Amino acid sequence: MRIGVPAEVRSSFLAVATVIALVACTPPAPRPLTPADYPRTRPELTRYRETSHYADVRKFLDSLRALRAPLFFGSIGKTSEGRDIPYVIASRPLVFTASEAKRTGRPIVYVQGNIHAGEVEGKDALLALIRDLTFSSKPNVLDSIVLIAVPIYNADGNERFAPQSVNRTEQNGPEMVGVRPNAQNLDLNRDYVKAEAPETRASLTMFNTWDPDVFVDLHTTDGSFHGYALTYSPSLSPAAVFGGVYARDSLLPVLRERLRARDGFEVFDYGNFISDQPGAIADTSVHEGWATYDPRPRFGTNYYGIRGRIGILSEAFSHDSLARRIASTYAFVNEVLSLVAEKGGAIRSLTARADSQPLAWGRSPDSVQMVAIRSELITTPRMMDVIKEDLEKTGDSSLTQPGVPRGERRTGRFRTIRIPVYDRFTSTLDRTPPAAYVVAPGDTAVAALLRLHGIRVDRSDSAWRARGESFTIDSIITAPRTFQGHHEVRLRGRWERGLQTLPPKSFIVSTAQPRGELVVYLLEPESDDGFTTWNLFDNDLKKGGQFPVTRIFDLSRRGRAANRRSSVSTTQPLQN
Ligand SMILES: [Zn+2]
Repeated sequence: MRIGVPAEVRSSFLAVATVIALVACTPPAPRPLTPADYPRTRPELTRYRETSHYADVRKFLDSLRALRAPLFFGSIGKTSEGRDIPYVIASRPLVFTASEAKRTGRPIVYVQGNIHAGEVEGKDALLALIRDLTFSSKPNVLDSIVLIAVPIYNADGNERFAPQSVNRTEQNGPEMVGVRPNAQNLDLNRDYVKAEAPETRASLTMFNTWDPDVFVDLHTTDGSFHGYALTYSPSLSPAAVFGGVYARDSLLPVLRERLRARDGFEVFDYGNFISDQPGAIADTSVHEGWATYDPRPRFGTNYYGIRGRIGILSEAFSHDSLARRIASTYAFVNEVLSLVAEKGGAIRSLTARADSQPLAWGRSPDSVQMVAIRSELITTPRMMDVIKEDLEKTGDSSLTQPGVPRGERRTGRFRTIRIPVYDRFTSTLDRTPPAAYVVAPGDTAVAALLRLHGIRVDRSDSAWRARGESFTIDSIITAPRTFQGHHEVRLRGRWERGLQTLPPKSFIVSTAQPRGELVVYLLEPESDDGFTTWNLFDNDLKKGGQFPVTRIFDLSRRGRAANRRSSVSTTQPLQN
């Protein structure tokens, strides 16, 4: 159910105010609520000319609360400017805690809007969808899933309102929008590994607490003139062996069909025409094609796949009007929730297998699965039909629509062309997980960040010796330009086997734990997006020197040796 744009703005404010007053007075037999009583989003109140400010989101959620909507309202944490980042839990019956959610046995879906705050429709679509699902008296997905909705993740960026022509040059309205980064000027969708923003730290804590089976991140495109209302992507990292592959092959093709058949929207895998992004593929002889973006876990949905779960990126078409972008995003999220509800059993079992696989690594060397820590775009694309819109010259240098190059106009003429589609990555460097990584005692920041990623870190009391490997650094390649305040680092070197001497107070990170793949991805020195990349080990790096993280093959021997020396447990879990 969707609520249309009201005919008269003032009357709907009055309707909401009246209902709030009624609830506050708690009359003995209040009349049943009707859709006319429900709160409306700012776009709905302004004929889709404006997007919600932070205060609008709070007011909308407060209105739902005042109407006694069966929702749980919380805050995932505070932004760097001190704003609470609201979240809402919706399910029937309602759950209030993560353990209650787990006990339902239902898939938990975490949907996030507004990570790039100029990309506004995710926020407004999500608010409308929460309202419509919650007030619907008919059976719906809330009977089969637990929904966690975070409509205004980058709340500080949202409040940096400025003209779209300044903040979102490629976007067809609304006139005033927020900015991409947070108040620290960090791009939150490049922060999932280093987790420097309070927003990221809060969302990682939410991931650890609620452990959602599915994470959906809502954006707006910047690029090509294609014929799709929305493009989507699974986790692209080849290390996302569970949720990435399942979403790509089992969920997204079904969603594509449903969006077309049930919602009237053409959607496709995220990408841009190669002609719009020179250098997107290595083969310079290919001039026409369609290529996706980047597999690294600095991007939230890629990161989420390496956690062994399903991550789905949603990108509404920036050249559509705000009303259509809200409608397509609303429909996409609605269909995702519906499909996840239908496939709840399969998705829950995928989650269980993702968690149990690394546990088996510790018991049987045969079960060890390589983890891809570097990758490249495939060189063997499939030929597929892709819809393209033709632009034409205006004959002058006028601006016909925001985002359309000066001197050109949209034609509304769409062509389906058969071109190579580069929609996935293949591994270029795999690593076999050791039993554990051992981190030098002084690297407390590394241990703390691992814990923030939901990784168990133990600590040894005494010095010990164990079979393993150490990494000798042959070269240190530091990016000349800063990115997100960092000179990214890439190491080359070699692992060499031998007896490792490990000092007391070393941090021990077993790979035999849920998120074992993530342990490997973050700690391997040659990973394309690990802690090394983001300078966490810079003080310990020297050409010809040893990398400060060691691989250990067998943790059990350490335990037996230690027990002979002392009856006291030699590992102490760190406080979470
Ligand atoms: Zn974005």
